[in-house]
Amino acid sequence: MNHQQSAALFARAMQIIPGGVNSPVRAFKSVGCDPIFIARAEGSRIYDADGNAYIDYVGSWGPMILGHCHPKVVEAIQQAAASGASFGAPTEKEIVLAEMVREAYPNIEKVRMVSSGTEATMSAIRLARGYTGRDKILKFDGCYHGHADSLLVKAGSGAATFGVPTSPGVPADFAKYTLTATYNDLAETRALVAANKGEIACIILEAIAGNMGCVAPKPGFLEGLRQLCNEEGIVLIVDEVMTGFRVAFGGAQERYGVRGDLVCLGKIIGGGLPVGAFGGKREIMERLSPEGGIYQAGTLSGNPLAMSAGIATLKLLKEEGFYARIEEKSAYFEKGMRQAATAAGVPTSLQRVGGMFCTYFQAEEVFNFADVKAETPKIFAKFFRTMLEEGINLAPSQYEAGFMSIAHSTADLDQTFEAAAKAFKEL
Ligand code: PMP
Repeated sequence: MNHQQSAALFARAMQIIPGGVNSPVRAFKSVGCDPIFIARAEGSRIYDADGNAYIDYVGSWGPMILGHCHPKVVEAIQQAAASGASFGAPTEKEIVLAEMVREAYPNIEKVRMVSSGTEATMSAIRLARGYTGRDKILKFDGCYHGHADSLLVKAGSGAATFGVPTSPGVPADFAKYTLTATYNDLAETRALVAANKGEIACIILEAIAGNMGCVAPKPGFLEGLRQLCNEEGIVLIVDEVMTGFRVAFGGAQERYGVRGDLVCLGKIIGGGLPVGAFGGKREIMERLSPEGGIYQAGTLSGNPLAMSAGIATLKLLKEEGFYARIEEKSAYFEKGMRQAATAAGVPTSLQRVGGMFCTYFQAEEVFNFADVKAETPKIFAKFFRTMLEEGINLAPSQYEAGFMSIAHSTADLDQTFEAAAKAFKEL
């Protein structure tokens, strides 16, 4: 494959944009090659600046569940653009999308639109803090909730009391309010809550952890957290930025039957445009400005183009059998990838929930961040590079989920297995 144009664009971008990219993982650093620059996409395929085609399992990191450039979504965006790109004033479209969200997530009694997942989680946490009058929050190691200061914290060895900042620039004074626990470890979480009794505003989690690959909650984990939050007056924030409208119309909460007090959404609800949302219990949401005193705002929040893309997308997802079809494609994908790995004798743990999945390059199943072995991402990196050269676009990190779209055909999946057979053999 020729990557001349991508290489030239990357060199140019490096001169003006830090690392040449506007979001770090796009730089392909952890997979040891240079990024491809994208020119366009359609359906299941994405095309780079050199004209190479790839079957795309990134889907803009989740939003493109309909495939790229679905005609109805394109039409909705075009129509909205012709009526005005932004007003900074309320529109009916915001109500329509909000009502669609409430229909899918009955625990969302009120919802506010923002422009990214980061804004959604950051604002939900502020709200939980304002509502409870408590400062500490609890998150799980390996769960990503965007890049707000208090969320860029992972577990240090002494994590039971104080967090350790992951990123320079996060003051230790902020980080100390973020407690971290091991995903899927209810006993540890309970102990941490007990040690900080009456001080924790919220527990935030990905109900299926897609930012360490694809880790499903163990039976009882979500139920246990729900009960713990009830007992302790802690706000449970379920971050469904990735899983919302992905693993079911009603997200992970519908799949597992456990509901948060607040919910964060993003990605799919924007149909590929910048949208996030947070919502939940009326009595909590009513504390938000201008009804209450907890401040949150946005010049482009509820943007008409973004609302239109979201509405058009959700309408299509509501069609009979949509999620059954995604499940069928994803199950077929899982089987084919397993067969390719087994035939090549490569130990893998393929983990999948609905249309999100991850192939870990180790035999042992992953239940939490520490379960990913040190050598696993290195094996993945080699696999990734071969797949890319074979025309398959995977997320460039072992710690990311892959996404199925409704536009992936059986022929696409079969072509992927052929490429995978080769990539597995070359490891
Ligand atoms: N929460 C989760 C679960 C996410 O996966 C992400 C992004 N991948 C975010 C929050 C942050 O969303 P954004 O990148 O739109 O700020």
